[in-house]
Amino acid sequence: MGKLSPRHAVVNRDICVACGTCVDVCPMGAMQIVQGSYACPVEEKCVGCGMCAKECPATAIKVEVRE
Ligand code: SF4
Ligand code: SF4
Repeated sequence: MGKLSPRHAVVNRDICVACGTCVDVCPMGAMQIVQGSYACPVEEKCVGCGMCAKECPATAIKVEVRE
């Protein structure tokens, strides 16, 4: 796997309702639902495109610059 992209999706686990919308819309197949309770992107796959953040009904996702 290559270098991580400069931006990535960050999920607020307290707000996420595990609806799976982000999993469905992610073009990279990067989002997954963890333990049926919150979404978390696979860091090596997320390119920070923001599709998930745009579609999340709970507004639980932000695209941030990696530290
Ligand atoms: S779309 Fe939003 S609320 Fe739904 S699983 Fe993804 S982060 Fe959670
Ligand atoms: S920012 Fe883009 S690549 Fe990353 S998880 Fe969201 S939809 Fe997928």
